[in-house]
Amino acid sequence: MVSTYSFDGRVAVVTGAGRGIGRAHARLLADRGASVVVNDLGGSMEGLGADADVASAVVAEIAAAGGTAAANGSDVATPEGAQALIDTAIEQFGRLDILVNNAGIIRWAGFPEADSDNLARHLAVHTVGSFNTARAAWPHMAEQGYGRIVMTTSSGIFGLPKNLSYATAKAAVIGLTRSLTTAGAAHGIKVNLIAPAAFTRMAGQSTTDADSPGHGAEPSPMSSDLVAPMVAFLAHEACPVSGEIYAAGAGRFSRIFIASTPGYVHPGPRPTVEDIALHWDAINDETGYSVPADLMAWSASFMEHLPPAGPGPAAS
Ligand code: NAD
Repeated sequence: MVSTYSFDGRVAVVTGAGRGIGRAHARLLADRGASVVVNDLGGSMEGLGADADVASAVVAEIAAAGGTAAANGSDVATPEGAQALIDTAIEQFGRLDILVNNAGIIRWAGFPEADSDNLARHLAVHTVGSFNTARAAWPHMAEQGYGRIVMTTSSGIFGLPKNLSYATAKAAVIGLTRSLTTAGAAHGIKVNLIAPAAFTRMAGQSTTDADSPGHGAEPSPMSSDLVAPMVAFLAHEACPVSGEIYAAGAGRFSRIFIASTPGYVHPGPRPTVEDIALHWDAINDETGYSVPADLMAWSASFMEHLPPAGPGPAAS
Protein backbone atom coordinates (compact mmCIF):
# COMPACT_ATOMS: atom_id res chain seq x y z
CA MET A 1 0.00 0.00 0.00
CA VAL A 2 1.45 3.34 -1.06
CA SER A 3 1.10 6.03 1.61
CA THR A 4 1.65 9.02 -0.66
CA TYR A 5 1.18 8.93 -4.40
CA SER A 6 4.05 10.89 -5.92
CA PHE A 7 4.75 11.36 -9.61
CA ASP A 8 8.22 12.81 -9.18
CA GLY A 9 10.31 12.05 -12.26
CA ARG A 10 7.32 10.90 -14.30
CA VAL A 11 6.24 12.48 -17.58
CA ALA A 12 2.54 12.58 -18.47
CA VAL A 13 0.59 13.55 -21.56
CA VAL A 14 -3.04 14.55 -20.99
CA THR A 15 -5.19 15.14 -24.07
CA GLY A 16 -7.98 17.70 -24.07
CA ALA A 17 -6.44 19.14 -20.89
CA GLY A 18 -7.19 22.78 -21.64
CA ARG A 19 -10.65 22.56 -20.13
CA GLY A 20 -12.94 20.60 -17.88
CA ILE A 21 -11.97 17.16 -16.65
CA GLY A 22 -8.64 16.98 -18.53
CA ARG A 23 -7.52 20.23 -16.94
CA ALA A 24 -8.17 18.70 -13.50
CA HIS A 25 -6.15 15.59 -14.42
CA ALA A 26 -3.21 17.69 -15.64
CA ARG A 27 -3.22 19.95 -12.58
CA LEU A 28 -3.35 17.03 -10.13
CA LEU A 29 -0.55 15.09 -11.85
CA ALA A 30 1.60 18.24 -11.96
CA ASP A 31 0.79 19.01 -8.34
CA ARG A 32 2.07 15.51 -7.45
CA GLY A 33 5.36 16.08 -9.27
CA ALA A 34 4.81 14.93 -12.86
CA SER A 35 6.01 16.95 -15.82
CA VAL A 36 2.87 17.30 -17.90
CA VAL A 37 2.23 17.95 -21.56
CA VAL A 38 -1.10 19.78 -21.70
CA ASN A 39 -2.68 18.98 -25.05
CA ASP A 40 -5.75 20.76 -26.36
CA LEU A 41 -6.89 21.62 -29.84
CA GLY A 42 -8.98 24.38 -28.31
CA GLY A 43 -12.06 23.98 -30.50
CA SER A 44 -15.76 24.14 -29.73
CA MET A 45 -17.64 21.43 -27.88
CA GLU A 46 -18.66 20.10 -31.30
CA GLY A 47 -15.02 19.97 -32.37
CA LEU A 48 -14.97 23.02 -34.63
CA GLY A 49 -12.11 25.51 -34.76
CA ALA A 50 -8.85 25.66 -32.82
CA ASP A 51 -7.25 27.90 -30.21
CA ALA A 52 -3.69 27.37 -29.00
CA ASP A 53 -4.28 29.62 -25.97
CA VAL A 54 -6.52 27.00 -24.34
CA ALA A 55 -3.61 24.61 -23.63
CA SER A 56 -1.20 27.46 -22.86
CA ALA A 57 -3.52 28.88 -20.20
CA VAL A 58 -3.44 25.61 -18.23
CA VAL A 59 0.34 25.42 -18.59
CA ALA A 60 0.50 28.93 -17.08
CA GLU A 61 -1.76 27.82 -14.19
CA ILE A 62 0.48 24.83 -13.48
CA ALA A 63 3.62 26.96 -13.65
CA ALA A 64 2.08 29.55 -11.32
CA ALA A 65 1.41 26.74 -8.82
CA GLY A 66 5.06 25.67 -9.00
CA GLY A 67 4.59 22.77 -11.40
CA THR A 68 6.19 21.81 -14.72
CA ALA A 69 4.19 21.69 -17.94
CA ALA A 70 4.41 22.24 -21.68
CA ALA A 71 1.62 23.10 -24.09
CA ASN A 72 0.64 21.23 -27.24
CA GLY A 73 -2.20 22.19 -29.58
CA SER A 74 -2.30 19.05 -31.74
CA ASP A 75 -5.44 17.44 -33.07
CA VAL A 76 -5.29 13.89 -31.70
CA ALA A 77 -7.75 12.72 -34.35
CA THR A 78 -4.90 12.67 -36.87
CA PRO A 79 -1.89 10.33 -36.65
CA GLU A 80 0.41 13.32 -37.33
CA GLY A 81 -1.16 15.31 -34.48
CA ALA A 82 -0.84 12.41 -32.06
CA GLN A 83 2.77 11.83 -33.10
CA ALA A 84 3.59 15.53 -32.64
CA LEU A 85 2.04 15.38 -29.17
CA ILE A 86 4.14 12.40 -28.07
CA ASP A 87 7.21 13.99 -29.68
CA THR A 88 6.60 17.09 -27.53
CA ALA A 89 6.83 14.97 -24.37
CA ILE A 90 10.09 13.37 -25.50
CA GLU A 91 11.62 16.65 -26.70
CA GLN A 92 10.58 18.67 -23.63
CA PHE A 93 10.98 16.11 -20.86
CA GLY A 94 13.01 13.22 -22.33
CA ARG A 95 10.60 10.35 -21.66
CA LEU A 96 6.95 9.33 -21.44
CA ASP A 97 5.38 7.36 -18.60
CA ILE A 98 1.70 8.28 -18.62
CA LEU A 99 -0.85 8.90 -21.35
CA VAL A 100 -4.32 10.11 -20.37
CA ASN A 101 -6.70 10.08 -23.32
CA ASN A 102 -9.38 12.54 -22.31
CA ALA A 103 -10.02 14.71 -25.40
CA GLY A 104 -13.59 14.54 -26.57
CA ILE A 105 -16.35 16.22 -28.52
CA ILE A 106 -20.10 15.89 -28.53
CA ARG A 107 -22.64 16.60 -31.27
CA TRP A 108 -26.04 15.77 -29.89
CA ALA A 109 -28.23 13.81 -32.28
CA GLY A 110 -30.70 10.98 -31.81
CA PHE A 111 -31.57 8.32 -34.34
CA PRO A 112 -32.07 8.46 -37.29
CA GLU A 113 -31.05 12.15 -37.18
CA ALA A 114 -27.42 11.16 -36.44
CA ASP A 115 -25.88 10.69 -39.87
CA SER A 116 -22.66 8.99 -40.91
CA ASP A 117 -20.70 12.25 -40.56
CA ASN A 118 -21.93 12.60 -36.98
CA LEU A 119 -20.75 9.05 -36.24
CA ALA A 120 -17.45 9.57 -38.05
CA ARG A 121 -16.62 12.74 -36.07
CA HIS A 122 -17.22 11.04 -32.73
CA LEU A 123 -15.19 8.00 -33.77
CA ALA A 124 -12.40 10.25 -35.08
CA VAL A 125 -11.82 12.05 -31.79
CA HIS A 126 -12.75 9.52 -29.10
CA THR A 127 -11.77 6.22 -30.69
CA VAL A 128 -9.25 6.99 -33.43
CA GLY A 129 -7.73 9.76 -31.29
CA SER A 130 -7.16 7.30 -28.43
CA PHE A 131 -5.75 4.77 -30.90
CA ASN A 132 -3.43 7.37 -32.48
CA THR A 133 -1.93 8.60 -29.22
CA ALA A 134 -1.54 5.08 -27.79
CA ARG A 135 0.16 3.97 -31.00
CA ALA A 136 2.57 6.91 -30.92
CA ALA A 137 3.29 6.41 -27.20
CA TRP A 138 3.66 2.63 -27.38
CA PRO A 139 7.26 2.32 -28.68
CA HIS A 140 8.54 4.59 -25.88
CA MET A 141 6.65 2.69 -23.20
CA ALA A 142 7.53 -0.75 -24.60
CA GLU A 143 11.20 0.14 -24.87
CA GLN A 144 11.41 1.28 -21.26
CA GLY A 145 9.23 -1.64 -20.10
CA TYR A 146 6.81 0.68 -18.34
CA GLY A 147 3.73 2.69 -19.12
CA ARG A 148 0.35 3.74 -17.81
CA ILE A 149 -2.50 4.62 -20.16
CA VAL A 150 -5.87 5.86 -18.94
CA MET A 151 -8.67 6.09 -21.47
CA THR A 152 -11.97 7.90 -21.10
CA THR A 153 -15.24 6.13 -21.77
CA SER A 154 -18.69 7.23 -20.62
CA SER A 155 -21.69 5.93 -18.74
CA GLY A 156 -23.35 6.64 -22.10
CA ILE A 157 -22.33 3.07 -22.95
CA PHE A 158 -25.32 1.97 -20.86
CA GLY A 159 -27.51 3.62 -23.50
CA LEU A 160 -27.67 7.23 -24.61
CA PRO A 161 -30.48 7.43 -27.18
CA LYS A 162 -30.10 11.16 -27.82
CA ASN A 163 -26.46 10.75 -28.75
CA LEU A 164 -25.81 7.27 -29.97
CA SER A 165 -22.73 8.24 -32.02
CA TYR A 166 -21.01 9.47 -28.86
CA ALA A 167 -21.98 6.29 -26.98
CA THR A 168 -20.79 4.14 -29.91
CA ALA A 169 -17.38 5.81 -29.94
CA LYS A 170 -17.05 5.56 -26.16
CA ALA A 171 -17.92 1.84 -26.25
CA ALA A 172 -15.32 1.26 -28.97
CA VAL A 173 -12.66 2.68 -26.64
CA ILE A 174 -13.41 -0.21 -24.27
CA GLY A 175 -12.58 -2.80 -26.96
CA LEU A 176 -9.42 -0.88 -27.76
CA THR A 177 -8.40 -0.75 -24.11
CA ARG A 178 -9.08 -4.41 -23.39
CA SER A 179 -6.94 -5.47 -26.34
CA LEU A 180 -4.14 -3.02 -25.52
CA THR A 181 -4.20 -4.48 -22.01
CA THR A 182 -3.26 -7.92 -23.29
CA ALA A 183 -0.69 -6.46 -25.70
CA GLY A 184 0.86 -4.32 -22.95
CA ALA A 185 1.17 -6.96 -20.24
CA ALA A 186 4.57 -8.20 -21.47
CA HIS A 187 5.92 -4.62 -21.55
CA GLY A 188 4.84 -3.40 -18.12
CA ILE A 189 2.12 -1.27 -19.72
CA LYS A 190 -1.21 -1.07 -17.89
CA VAL A 191 -4.26 0.35 -19.63
CA ASN A 192 -7.49 1.26 -17.84
CA LEU A 193 -10.58 3.40 -18.38
CA ILE A 194 -12.57 5.93 -16.45
CA ALA A 195 -16.20 6.87 -16.94
CA PRO A 196 -16.32 10.39 -15.47
CA ALA A 197 -19.21 12.52 -14.30
CA ALA A 198 -18.62 16.25 -13.82
CA PHE A 199 -20.20 19.55 -14.67
CA THR A 200 -18.21 20.84 -17.63
CA ARG A 201 -19.24 22.66 -20.77
CA MET A 202 -19.90 19.22 -22.28
CA ALA A 203 -22.21 18.37 -19.41
CA GLY A 204 -24.06 21.67 -19.80
CA GLN A 205 -22.22 23.79 -17.25
CA SER A 206 -18.86 24.39 -15.64
CA THR A 207 -17.56 25.95 -12.47
CA THR A 208 -14.04 26.38 -13.80
CA ASP A 209 -14.02 27.14 -17.52
CA ALA A 210 -13.94 30.83 -18.35
CA ASP A 211 -16.16 30.27 -21.38
CA SER A 212 -18.90 28.48 -19.44
CA PRO A 213 -21.92 29.98 -17.69
CA GLY A 214 -20.99 28.71 -14.21
CA HIS A 215 -17.51 30.28 -14.24
CA GLY A 216 -16.53 31.83 -10.94
CA ALA A 217 -18.95 29.83 -8.82
CA GLU A 218 -17.83 27.84 -5.78
CA PRO A 219 -16.48 24.33 -6.53
CA SER A 220 -19.53 22.11 -6.80
CA PRO A 221 -20.04 18.46 -5.83
CA MET A 222 -19.82 17.86 -9.58
CA SER A 223 -16.38 19.46 -9.95
CA SER A 224 -13.87 17.82 -12.31
CA ASP A 225 -11.47 17.79 -9.34
CA LEU A 226 -13.54 14.95 -7.92
CA VAL A 227 -12.78 12.79 -10.97
CA ALA A 228 -9.02 13.35 -11.18
CA PRO A 229 -7.92 11.25 -8.15
CA MET A 230 -9.07 8.08 -9.89
CA VAL A 231 -7.05 8.93 -12.98
CA ALA A 232 -3.97 9.63 -10.85
CA PHE A 233 -4.44 6.30 -9.04
CA LEU A 234 -4.65 4.40 -12.35
CA ALA A 235 -1.70 6.37 -13.77
CA HIS A 236 0.56 5.56 -10.83
CA GLU A 237 3.30 2.95 -10.72
CA ALA A 238 1.34 1.16 -7.97
CA CYS A 239 -1.79 0.72 -10.12
CA PRO A 240 -2.96 -2.82 -9.33
CA VAL A 241 -5.18 -3.45 -12.39
CA SER A 242 -5.23 -3.38 -16.19
CA GLY A 243 -8.21 -3.48 -18.54
CA GLU A 244 -10.71 -2.22 -15.98
CA ILE A 245 -13.34 0.53 -16.05
CA TYR A 246 -13.98 2.86 -13.11
CA ALA A 247 -16.72 5.44 -12.78
CA ALA A 248 -15.72 8.61 -10.94
CA GLY A 249 -17.66 11.71 -10.06
CA ALA A 250 -19.55 13.54 -7.32
CA GLY A 251 -17.37 11.87 -4.70
CA ARG A 252 -18.31 8.32 -5.71
CA PHE A 253 -15.89 5.80 -7.26
CA SER A 254 -17.10 2.45 -8.56
CA ARG A 255 -16.18 -0.35 -10.92
CA ILE A 256 -18.06 -1.02 -14.14
CA PHE A 257 -17.52 -4.45 -15.66
CA ILE A 258 -18.53 -6.71 -18.50
CA ALA A 259 -19.76 -10.03 -17.20
CA SER A 260 -21.20 -13.28 -18.47
CA THR A 261 -23.95 -15.39 -16.95
CA PRO A 262 -23.28 -19.13 -16.60
CA GLY A 263 -26.23 -19.58 -18.96
CA TYR A 264 -27.81 -22.81 -20.10
CA VAL A 265 -26.08 -25.81 -21.68
CA HIS A 266 -28.36 -27.93 -23.84
CA PRO A 267 -27.80 -31.64 -23.25
CA GLY A 268 -28.60 -32.82 -26.79
CA PRO A 269 -26.82 -32.16 -30.07
CA ARG A 270 -29.43 -29.84 -31.66
CA PRO A 271 -31.05 -27.13 -29.49
CA THR A 272 -34.23 -25.71 -31.00
CA VAL A 273 -35.76 -22.25 -30.81
CA GLU A 274 -38.21 -23.72 -28.32
CA ASP A 275 -35.29 -24.86 -26.12
CA ILE A 276 -34.12 -21.22 -25.99
CA ALA A 277 -37.61 -20.11 -24.94
CA LEU A 278 -37.86 -22.86 -22.35
CA HIS A 279 -34.56 -21.95 -20.73
CA TRP A 280 -34.73 -18.15 -21.14
CA ASP A 281 -34.67 -17.55 -17.37
CA ALA A 282 -31.54 -19.69 -16.94
CA ILE A 283 -29.79 -17.92 -19.83
CA ASN A 284 -30.46 -14.56 -18.15
CA ASP A 285 -29.91 -15.61 -14.52
CA GLU A 286 -27.10 -13.44 -13.12
CA THR A 287 -26.36 -15.86 -10.27
CA GLY A 288 -22.74 -17.03 -10.44
CA TYR A 289 -21.79 -14.62 -13.25
CA SER A 290 -18.13 -14.38 -14.26
CA VAL A 291 -16.02 -11.39 -15.28
CA PRO A 292 -13.58 -12.65 -17.93
CA ALA A 293 -10.23 -10.88 -18.10
CA ASP A 294 -9.89 -11.50 -21.83
CA LEU A 295 -11.10 -13.66 -24.72
CA MET A 296 -9.16 -16.72 -23.54
CA ALA A 297 -10.69 -16.50 -20.07
CA TRP A 298 -14.17 -16.13 -21.56
CA SER A 299 -13.61 -19.10 -23.90
CA ALA A 300 -12.38 -21.31 -21.07
CA SER A 301 -15.48 -20.52 -19.07
CA PHE A 302 -17.99 -20.64 -21.95
CA MET A 303 -16.65 -23.96 -23.30
CA GLU A 304 -15.96 -25.63 -19.97
CA HIS A 305 -18.72 -28.19 -20.50
CA LEU A 306 -16.95 -29.60 -23.58
CA PRO A 307 -14.73 -32.66 -23.11
CA PRO A 308 -11.03 -31.77 -23.03
CA ALA A 309 -9.44 -31.77 -26.50
CA GLY A 310 -7.55 -34.99 -27.13
CA PRO A 311 -3.92 -35.18 -28.21
CA GLY A 312 -4.98 -35.08 -31.87
CA PRO A 313 -4.53 -37.71 -34.57
CA ALA A 314 -1.67 -40.11 -33.99
CA ALA A 315 1.28 -39.65 -36.33
CA SER A 316 1.37 -42.43 -38.91
P1 NAD B 1 -14.75 19.60 -22.41
O1 NAD B 1 -15.41 19.94 -23.70
O2 NAD B 1 -14.78 20.59 -21.31
O3 NAD B 1 -13.24 19.18 -22.65
C1 NAD B 1 -12.82 18.39 -23.74
C2 NAD B 1 -11.56 19.00 -24.29
O4 NAD B 1 -11.07 18.17 -25.35
C3 NAD B 1 -11.78 20.39 -24.87
O5 NAD B 1 -10.94 21.34 -24.26
C4 NAD B 1 -11.48 20.23 -26.36
O6 NAD B 1 -10.89 21.37 -26.95
C5 NAD B 1 -10.54 19.03 -26.35
N1 NAD B 1 -10.53 18.35 -27.66
C6 NAD B 1 -11.61 18.00 -28.40
N2 NAD B 1 -11.20 17.42 -29.54
C7 NAD B 1 -9.84 17.39 -29.52
C8 NAD B 1 -8.87 16.90 -30.41
N3 NAD B 1 -9.23 16.33 -31.57
N4 NAD B 1 -7.57 17.02 -30.08
C9 NAD B 1 -7.21 17.60 -28.91
N5 NAD B 1 -8.09 18.10 -28.02
C10 NAD B 1 -9.40 18.00 -28.32
O7 NAD B 1 -15.43 18.22 -21.93
P2 NAD B 1 -15.25 17.35 -20.58
O8 NAD B 1 -16.60 17.17 -20.00
O9 NAD B 1 -14.12 17.86 -19.76
O10 NAD B 1 -14.86 15.93 -21.22
C11 NAD B 1 -13.62 15.30 -21.03
C12 NAD B 1 -13.76 13.84 -21.40
O11 NAD B 1 -14.66 13.18 -20.50
C13 NAD B 1 -14.35 13.60 -22.80
O12 NAD B 1 -13.73 12.49 -23.40
C14 NAD B 1 -15.80 13.32 -22.52
O13 NAD B 1 -16.39 12.60 -23.57
C15 NAD B 1 -15.69 12.53 -21.24
N6 NAD B 1 -16.90 12.47 -20.42
C16 NAD B 1 -17.33 13.57 -19.76
C17 NAD B 1 -18.45 13.47 -18.93
C18 NAD B 1 -18.93 14.63 -18.09
O14 NAD B 1 -19.77 14.41 -17.19
N7 NAD B 1 -18.44 15.84 -18.32
C19 NAD B 1 -19.15 12.26 -18.84
C20 NAD B 1 -18.68 11.16 -19.54
C21 NAD B 1 -17.53 11.28 -20.32
